[in-house]
Amino acid sequence: MEEQEIWKNVLGDIELQISKPNFLTWLKNSQMVGLNRKDGVVMVGLPNNFAKEWVKSRYHKLILTSIRNLDGSIKNVDYVVVSSVHQNPENKKISSQQQNNTPQSSLIDVKVDSKTNLNPKYTFANYIVGSSNELATAASQAIVKSIGKKYNPLFIYGGVGLGKTHLLQATGNEIMNRYKNAVSVLYISSEKFINDVVWALRNRRTDDMKKKYRDVDVLIIDDIQFIGGKAATEQEFFYTFNTLYENNKQIIISSDRPPTAIPTLEERLRSRFEGGMIADITYPDYEMRLAILKTKAQNQSIFIEDAILEQIASKVQRNIRELEGVFNKVVFYEQYKNQKIDGKKLDEIIGEAIQITPKNITAGDIVRIVAEFFEVPVTDMTTKSRKQEIVEPRQIAMFLMRDILKLSFPHIGEKLGKRDHTTAIHACEKISQEITQNPAFNQKIMLIRERLYKM
Ligand code: ADP
Ligand code: MG
Repeated sequence: MEEQEIWKNVLGDIELQISKPNFLTWLKNSQMVGLNRKDGVVMVGLPNNFAKEWVKSRYHKLILTSIRNLDGSIKNVDYVVVSSVHQNPENKKISSQQQNNTPQSSLIDVKVDSKTNLNPKYTFANYIVGSSNELATAASQAIVKSIGKKYNPLFIYGGVGLGKTHLLQATGNEIMNRYKNAVSVLYISSEKFINDVVWALRNRRTDDMKKKYRDVDVLIIDDIQFIGGKAATEQEFFYTFNTLYENNKQIIISSDRPPTAIPTLEERLRSRFEGGMIADITYPDYEMRLAILKTKAQNQSIFIEDAILEQIASKVQRNIRELEGVFNKVVFYEQYKNQKIDGKKLDEIIGEAIQITPKNITAGDIVRIVAEFFEVPVTDMTTKSRKQEIVEPRQIAMFLMRDILKLSFPHIGEKLGKRDHTTAIHACEKISQEITQNPAFNQKIMLIRERLYKM
């Protein structure tokens, strides 16, 4: 069944199941903006963020059931804001055409400039700078002023949701604003780069591809870690890199880890990366998290009590994307459902937003990952050993078992060398106290969590 047909049918189906005003308000202006057959994901476009949140929270189940009745191969539905839903009735046609003609199967975000792949929503103006991203931001801004000369390549690395894409995109946008058409910028995720290379090789169109990548003044590649280990792509990237580099073109790269920690990366690429500037983005501290929240509220002219923002900033620590997610939900409840948010409700929202804990983490995984992190033998973790270098990792493992798996104290004590439950209680208290008092320690715990979640 055609995409348009599917969505028409879904709407017809849902119209029968919800009230007319609700249907008109929330769903009439929706459209299907993409179908990723490979992953079985349908993208549904809605005219604004609130419609998106609303439909997602209230009608997702209905939509999913209905759509799966029509096409069993569809596994999930995702929602995006498509600002030009009404103005551009051709939208659908364009996007499905593009999908057929270009190698990537990714879904089209209509606001993104099709030539540069830059999304105007990412700017320096709405990028908060703090100690965690100071260096990376300064380096990026220096590049805007002297393209290709100062830091080349610029390699930015940091964990998920900490602002790498935002910074890369803001840099691209700033360059476009400043130099207009005198400079050409191309932003690309490494996944898309890989797809392009594979597609070009398969279709014997490598010349087109080379031209596309080697003709730009600024090439921005996001999440380069995915390139590691893909020989043809790495080689193509290496040539592209050299061509650009020799012609004093600017290259900006992001990754979730430093070049030395991408084990599958070819040595010659690694040394190229290390020849430029390397800057990391680490976890934002409390002040910065609060500043991000306050700026968001201000930019959207939304009033949320400081006490609420402070609570969010103190509880959501790991990732700015999650911070935004919680903020949006709070706004949604307060403004659209007129529901006052109290501490309990906020915890609930936070719990929902931070659902990235995979369900299959086991106590054994925690012990192993913590041991690996501190480079101590796993076996020492679960013995009675009181060696100093093992005491803290063991306490951290106890804390994480409690925090992530909600295991009982006796159970935790049992798992880590048949210890008494009071030992487990003491460990959890000590670690949580240390986390609030010592930022460097907190950072360590978050790195461990990240390894666990990424397992
Ligand atoms: P990454 O690419 O590192 O995974 P993103 O750049 O996608 O992270 O950031 C996640 C979200 O957090 C985005 O919506 C981004 O706009 C926002 N964000 C990240 N860092 C900042 C910052 N310093 N100030 C304001 N918003 C930020
Ligand atoms: Mg990113």
